[in-house]
Amino acid sequence: MILDIKERLGKTKYDVDKTYAHITVDENICEKCPHHFCVMACPAQCYTLQDGRLSFQYEDCVECGTCSVACDQGSVKWHYPKAGKGVIYKFG
Ligand code: SF4
Ligand code: SF4
Repeated sequence: MILDIKERLGKTKYDVDKTYAHITVDENICEKCPHHFCVMACPAQCYTLQDGRLSFQYEDCVECGTCSVACDQGSVKWHYPKAGKGVIYKFG
């Protein structure tokens, strides 16, 4: 059976660290962003646009690192989650 990306991500497990956001964005920078490229770039849909404003949630992040490259405006601050937290991959 072939799963699409949403179905695959739906099977992913997380140990969300509620005390530490491993990615943060600067709302002041995002307000002036000319393209919001992060919205298209993130495979887990952590970045969404709501009434023209960027909304971000780190909880579903699969730690691919794409947004750290996709954002050319200096808004994204990216770190790995603390040890044992974040996405849990079955095969490493
Ligand atoms: S690309 Fe960067 S500056 Fe633009 S909306 Fe996304 S995070 Fe914000
Ligand atoms: S690291 Fe990947 S999955 Fe996580 S927020 Fe950035 S683009 Fe999305």
